[in-house]
Amino acid sequence: MAIVTSYPTRPLECWKKMKELRRELFKASWGAKEMGGLAVATQNVAHPLVAGLGVFGRRLYGPYFSKAMREPDTLLSYHQAADARGFPRGEMCSSMHHYLGEMALGLTTVDPVSGSTSPVDFVLEAQFCHSVGKMAQIASEALGVPHKVLDIPQQDGAAAVDYVAAQMADAVDWMVKVTGREYHDEWLAAAVENWWEHAALWAQISLVNQAVPAPVDVRMMGALEILSIVGGHDRRVVDFFQIVLDEMNARVADGIAANGMETCRLTHEGEPMYYDEGFIHKLAHRYGAVFVAGFVTFCQGLWNIDEGGRWTAGPRFGDLGLSLRSREDALRLLARCYVEHSPIYRCQRLEEKPGEYVYRAQDWHCDGAVLHMDIGCHSQGAGVLEARQALERAGIPTVTYEASNGDPRDFSHSQVTDQLESFLERLGLVRLE
Ligand code: SF4
Repeated sequence: MAIVTSYPTRPLECWKKMKELRRELFKASWGAKEMGGLAVATQNVAHPLVAGLGVFGRRLYGPYFSKAMREPDTLLSYHQAADARGFPRGEMCSSMHHYLGEMALGLTTVDPVSGSTSPVDFVLEAQFCHSVGKMAQIASEALGVPHKVLDIPQQDGAAAVDYVAAQMADAVDWMVKVTGREYHDEWLAAAVENWWEHAALWAQISLVNQAVPAPVDVRMMGALEILSIVGGHDRRVVDFFQIVLDEMNARVADGIAANGMETCRLTHEGEPMYYDEGFIHKLAHRYGAVFVAGFVTFCQGLWNIDEGGRWTAGPRFGDLGLSLRSREDALRLLARCYVEHSPIYRCQRLEEKPGEYVYRAQDWHCDGAVLHMDIGCHSQGAGVLEARQALERAGIPTVTYEASNGDPRDFSHSQVTDQLESFLERLGLVRLE
């Protein structure tokens, strides 16, 4: 039976600042047009590229994502709207399916806070899976605006960097053409530097969580990570991530644990169930177990990834010895960031996945791995069963559960509870009072 050790815990001091910055960035996103800026519809926009045009707002195809994930009936109504428009459930990513519903209901251009309508100027995607690329095309047709998709080839090497940098250069010319705006290479360069730096910091923050006890859990990290997705090109996010890194190091020095107990450390692989994110964490917590690492939690970082799939923190911008003097310099560095260092653009490299999962569990000192067999994701699921075998061969116990990231109809509470509880008990844990 596992030994139950109590550790001191305390709330993250940066939490309030994180919430303020998130609010600021969301507000700025919807206020961009009023300030004479642009709005871009996207799941995964290449932020620094658009920053060369000046102020811009990033709109999700489904801007009511957070509300929908809190309100099951609302989420269901969006899925049903997509079904009714001839996009059958199960044939596409479950999050994208819900986006389609919001778009069908005309919500993509409606500010979730004020309710006012604000059109988008174009659709731009950096594609990391086929659902995202297809969604851009459908959105372009539905919203009546032009679209462009950057193809990131899930390969590295000089040819891949050249290929992506050339596409980015085309995208800049295309944005100038469709918006009629002037493009500022110095704004691009500043945004690329911030983009690199915030991601390098996120990798370092993730590494700090190798400490025992872990200073934070993956849920806390998920909340902090949103700032990267919304505004990683923005200096405020770089500065904030430096604050987070400092606080993480201080928590380790003080022996502060995420939850006050750590009977067992786990990786979580796969997207979370966004509509019930806390479910498996609360269940694990009842046994004193903590999720400390996982692909989704760390994938906004800038990593050096070796051929065997091991991740180590990539260089900070200052260590590169580069200055970005031209558009070409900036685009080449951004292409390197995507091609060489961003895990999300390698999530279909099946040869790396088994090693990646094993190293992550070992390097973050985990006792087991929980794998989400996400029937709503047709991309990241590739290779998970092979990775599971590799984990078991390495002596790391695993469990899988089946659900989907964006559709609660695919989630059975009782089934997942049974699977996870049996697993935790197999690890020698007992329910704590
Ligand atoms: S990677 Fe999976 S969850 Fe993400 S957009 Fe693609 S299909 Fe959806």
